Parts: sequence; C-alpha cells; structure tokens
Amino acid sequence: MKILVVEDEKKLAKVLKQGFEEEHYIVEVAFDGEQGFSLASTGNYDLIVLDILLPKRDGISVLKELHAKHINTPVLLLTAKSSVEDKVEGLDSGADDYLTKPFSFEELLARVRLLLKRSAYEKSTILKVADLQLDLVAHKAKRGDKQIELTGREYALLQYFMQNVNRVLTRTIISEQIWNYNFDTGTNVIDVYINHLRSKIDDGFEIKLIHTVRGVGYMMKDD
Ligand code: CA
Repeated sequence: MKILVVEDEKKLAKVLKQGFEEEHYIVEVAFDGEQGFSLASTGNYDLIVLDILLPKRDGISVLKELHAKHINTPVLLLTAKSSVEDKVEGLDSGADDYLTKPFSFEELLARVRLLLKRSAYEKSTILKVADLQLDLVAHKAKRGDKQIELTGREYALLQYFMQNVNRVLTRTIISEQIWNYNFDTGTNVIDVYINHLRSKIDDGFEIKLIHTVRGVGYMMKDD
C-alpha cells in the first residue's frame, strides 16, 4: 500500500511519514501543491493525504484537477481550518474524508485504514477502462459523467469486453461467452449488438474504446 503525503509543514510531514512507515505503508512526501499534483496524477498511489493550505497550489485546486482527470485515488484532506464551509467545499471537490488539525496520528491512521478498505472493495466491484466505468454491484455504466443505459445483453457484452481489455475477441468466443451458443456463420446478430453497444459507449467521445478487428472480431482498447 502506497501513500502520498502532500504537506508543507516539514515537521508534520516527517511525523506522518514515520508513523505510516511503522505501519508498513510505503510513503512519498510532496512539500507543495504543484509537486503533489504531479505525483498524484500518476495514479500510482492507494491513498493521498492532502493538506489544503500549500505553497504554489492549494489542495482544493489539486483535488479538483485530479477529479477532472478521473484519478480516483481516495483523498483525505488535512486543514487548519475548521469551518463548515471549508469542509463542504473539500467534500464537494471530491475528497473522501476530512481531518482538522491538530489531530492525533491514531485518528488519522484509523481513517486511512477505513478509506483503504472501502477503496479495495470498490476496486473489486467496479471495472474501469479509460474513463468508462462499470459498477458490478449497482449494475450501472458510465463514461466520464454520462450515465449509460444498457440492456441485459449489452451489459454482459460490456462486462466481457472490459474484463478482456486489449485482447482480440472473435465472434465465436463472444457468442459462446455471451449467448452460450455458437451462431451459424452468416448471421450478424453479434455485429448488430456490438454496434448498438458501441454507439452507446463511444458516440460523442473522441477516444473510441470498441474497435473492429477486420475479419477477426472486436477489441476494447484502453488507449
Ligand atoms: Ca499547510
């Protein structure tokens, strides 16, 4: 588990780093908002502890841009401010939790554990390919902020594509997996379904996710 701490108070940053390391987390520290954003935007962390008042760039602006870039790493905000408005602004900007300074390390650790647990659960139930998400519990799909309505068969197809991203799927494999049936060659049932799905997923988006592999089948690509 890798934690990014973005905190300009050197002494506090050091205490947090040591404390987390004693709990066997891997910790990296950024001392200003710009450095924090550039590390956080790699998406290489399991959790980010983000101070609000930072040099170069404040925590709320870092949080908003991460959110806009669909970096979904859980974020716990730290702040010296304790007003309700600040708390609401932080949570509205996409923070998962909020802690007001001064706080005890034990309390921070408890919150961090809870967020990591929640995020592990979400990771196991939400499939993601680029900005497309499929929630396997709620049975909901969305691309960016757009909710996508799917029929049962389209849902099954989409799930199969997302679980096999960057892999070419032949019509035979798709028909066996999704219909439990091998269609006679000559029918275009699969192509019709995939074209419907493709227009729901890709229409209006610059980056297309479902691609035709000529003469072979289809592939979902994440880049
Ligand atoms: Ca600060």
